[in-house]
Amino acid sequence: MQDVIKLLPDHVANQIAAGEVVQRPASVVKELLENAIDAGATEIKLIVKDAGKTLVQVIDNGKGMSMMDARMAFERHATSKIQSADDLFNLHTKGFRGEALASIAAIAHVVLKSKQPDTDLGTEIHIQGSKVSSQEPAVMQHGTTISVSNLFYNVPARRKFLKSDNVELRNITDEFHRVALAHPNITMHFVHNSNDLFNLPSGNKRQRIVNIMGSKTNEKLIAVEEETEIVTISGFIGKPEFARKTKGLQFLFVNDRFIRHNYLHHAITAAFEGLLKDGANPSYFLYLKVPSDSVDINIHPTKTEVKFDDEHSLYAIIRASVKHALGQFQVSAIDFERD
Ligand code: ADP
Ligand code: MG
Repeated sequence: MQDVIKLLPDHVANQIAAGEVVQRPASVVKELLENAIDAGATEIKLIVKDAGKTLVQVIDNGKGMSMMDARMAFERHATSKIQSADDLFNLHTKGFRGEALASIAAIAHVVLKSKQPDTDLGTEIHIQGSKVSSQEPAVMQHGTTISVSNLFYNVPARRKFLKSDNVELRNITDEFHRVALAHPNITMHFVHNSNDLFNLPSGNKRQRIVNIMGSKTNEKLIAVEEETEIVTISGFIGKPEFARKTKGLQFLFVNDRFIRHNYLHHAITAAFEGLLKDGANPSYFLYLKVPSDSVDINIHPTKTEVKFDDEHSLYAIIRASVKHALGQFQVSAIDFERD
């Protein structure tokens, strides 16, 4: 008899986990922006070089990390955000899996600088391929700056699989939009190869949508408001003329988190029935608030798929409130898109 099963070394386990969490530069952007939000930042700057293939850097003015925590942050399953399984059904943070930084550090060169508001000195850590090469004190403002360079330097198959800069930048911009729309109160900047792509001042939802999508968007928005026991809905739908043949601008948020949900998407499009030209897709920016124990976020590592307790009721409420909003504005079927 021979025993053949062995525990994988941490750096190998991290690299395997990274396969799920980090598919492309945009995944790094999402994880770092979400960490900055969880840290209570009121201002976040995203700096990207070469569509993230060379650098993804996120600078926040959040609560920072202690020296020890800055090191712990890169351990797998290390998190300050939950403590027990029960917490999974009472989530108030974007993160909770404690996987992102460990995964990113397994497949890139990472420099983390962080300082808490009540300390004089911050800390600076260099780590690559899961190995810490140095940790030194750092003079800096409070908050955290994390720089991720040479993504997939040790996973050539993944590196080769990356798309053109245009496509990867598009994906990054999509992630930036999702986070920025979910958090209009946070000031957000996005610089790519020294070009200022977005400078978003803090504001309300309408202002944030208009700042991102352009001033013409303003007159095309119809407000949606609904409050029931199981869900509170706010946000906007685009007037039918705003509908496009292409995919349209479709944003659904649950408890400040962007999600994809085919069934609820259908509820929204169903409400537009008869108002859209064949093949046109409605635009929407809808924000749902549901009790945190009525939604399961822990279905997939990227957390864009979620499962609700009572999807049928949600469907009915969303469809009715969108229909109501459309009716109130007496949108006529003549107002089709002309482009
Ligand atoms: P998770 O977000 O699921 O907890 P991460 O690997 O993304 O896991 O981060 C690990 C931990 O590092 C977090 O729980 C948090 O305590 C700390 N951390 C990460 N980014 C920041 C940041 N920008 N500011 C302060 N703390 C951070
Ligand atoms: Mg995180």
